[in-house]
Amino acid sequence: MSACADKSLLLNALLDGELDAGNALACEEHVKVCAGCEEELRSLREQRALLAAPGVRHAASNALRARVRAALEAEATMPLDTDPIQAARSIQRLKAIRDMHEATIWISHDPEDWAELPHAPTPIE
Ligand SMILES: [Zn+2]
Repeated sequence: MSACADKSLLLNALLDGELDAGNALACEEHVKVCAGCEEELRSLREQRALLAAPGVRHAASNALRARVRAALEAEATMPLDTDPIQAARSIQRLKAIRDMHEATIWISHDPEDWAELPHAPTPIE
């Protein structure tokens, strides 16, 4: 049994405390009635506990941290983004949801969308 396709990302976000109160509550209510999502959430919690065990974590070197930060900042270079890492994560999540539902969305904090699309107050036609 596996989690509902549209809930997988939400379960990770729930576990990471990244959902707002309304979405967290909706997700928790869904887990109560969906065996697949309940199992997935339990598995994610077990994985988190295993990774938190002493001796399992590996501390990244300062050089690796600097390379990762530079790569993330290159992906989210909008001048108004106060936290480029969170901005990059947010864009990645939105793109995953877009791809999952084969939808079209415009992300104003995505440098690619920003370069291609008109900006407010100019309407998108
Ligand atoms: Zn489910």
